[in-house]
Amino acid sequence: MLDRFGREIEYIRVSVTDRCNLRCTYCMPEEGVPPVPHAEILTFDEIERFCRIAAGLGISRIKLTGGEPLVRRGLPVLIGKLKRIPGVKQVTLTTNGTLLKEQIGSLTAAGLDAVNISLDTLDEERYRQVTRGGILDHVLEGLDAALAYPGLPVKINCVPLEDGTEEDLLRLAGLAEDRPVDVRFIEMMPIGSGKESAGKSGKDIREMLERRFGQPEPYEKPLGNGPAEYVQFAGFQGRIGFISAISHKFCRTCNRLRLTAEGLLKPCLQYGDGADIKALIRGGGTDAQIEDAVSQSVLSKPACHRFGETDAGRSRRPEDGAANDGGTDSPGFEERGMSRIGG
Ligand code: SAM
Ligand code: SF4
Repeated sequence: MLDRFGREIEYIRVSVTDRCNLRCTYCMPEEGVPPVPHAEILTFDEIERFCRIAAGLGISRIKLTGGEPLVRRGLPVLIGKLKRIPGVKQVTLTTNGTLLKEQIGSLTAAGLDAVNISLDTLDEERYRQVTRGGILDHVLEGLDAALAYPGLPVKINCVPLEDGTEEDLLRLAGLAEDRPVDVRFIEMMPIGSGKESAGKSGKDIREMLERRFGQPEPYEKPLGNGPAEYVQFAGFQGRIGFISAISHKFCRTCNRLRLTAEGLLKPCLQYGDGADIKALIRGGGTDAQIEDAVSQSVLSKPACHRFGETDAGRSRRPEDGAANDGGTDSPGFEERGMSRIGG
C-alpha cells in the first residue's frame, strides 16, 4: 500500500496487551495505568482476522508488542495463526526479556522469526530502579536462551537515559562484541512518562562509542523492519544501531501502522486518532469494510511527527497548511502511554 507521500506501508506493530510486569520509569507511572478490561482487548481470532485482511492489502511483516507481550497467555498460538496467513513473511516480537527463557522454545516452535529485547543498563541495581523492580539476571538468561537458537536474529533495544554512565552504555554496546547480537540505541520520545524523562541523543552515544571502539564502518544492508542506522565496529560480532527519531526524523521512510490491544488502528505514533477496528469487527463489519478502514488509515498518515517542535500542539499535519492549523476539530496528540500503544 502506498500512502499520500509515496511511502510503502508493509509493516504493522500489533500490541497484544496493555499489561506489563515492569514499570519502566519513562514508560509507565509507578502505580501502573488502569488496565483495559479483558473483554475490551482483541482476541487472538480478532487479531488474526484483522491481520489476514491487512496482509491481503500488502502488510507482510508483523511485530508483536505490548505492554509486555509475554504476559499474555498462549502467545505461541497467535504466532502460529499469523504465520499461516498467506502474504505474512515475518512475525517478530519485542519483549522486556524477563519471561523469555521459559517461553523461547514454544515461541520459536510456533515460527517466531526474530526477537528484540529491551535492556537499558547492565547494572543490576540500576536495572531494578529503572524498571521499578526488574531482575537483570532474568533478562540476561532470556538473551542467552534466545541466542541458543542460531537462526534467530536477536537485537537489544536500549533507551539511554540522561543520567546513565558512559561505562554502563559501553558495556551494553559491548554485548555486540561478545555475542552475535545487534545493539540499538533509541532516543527517548515525549510520549506518556517519556515526557518527564530525558535521554541521550544518538549523536552523543555514537561519539562516545567511537572514543572507545574507534571509527566504525557504515553498515548499509537493511536489517529488521525499520529506521535504525547501523554501523559495524572492528572485531564486533553484531552491529550497533541508532534510532534517532527526535534528532534525525526518519518519517520520510515510515513504513508502518500500529494496532493497539484495544483495536485502535493508528496511522502515526504521535497522534491520538485512529480507526476503531474492534467496533468494526464486533459490529459485524465485512472484510471489505475493514479493508476500507486500513486503506483510509494508510491515506491519513501524516507526513511527519512534530515531536520536539515548540508549536507542535497547534497543527496535526503541517503539510495540510493553515486551514487545519489549530482547529478545535483537529484530532489531538497521543495521550496514551507507550505501554498502551506498543512502542
Ligand atoms: N514491553 C516490551 C518491551 O519493553 O520491549 C514491549 C513494549 S515497550 C512499550 C516497546 C519499546 O518502547 C521498548 O523498547 C521501550 O524501551 C520503548 N519505549 C517505551 N517508552 C518509550 C519512550 N518514551 N521513548 C522511546 N522508547 C520508549
Ligand atoms: Fe513494560 Fe516495556 Fe514499558 Fe518497560 S518499556 S514498562 S517493559 S511496556
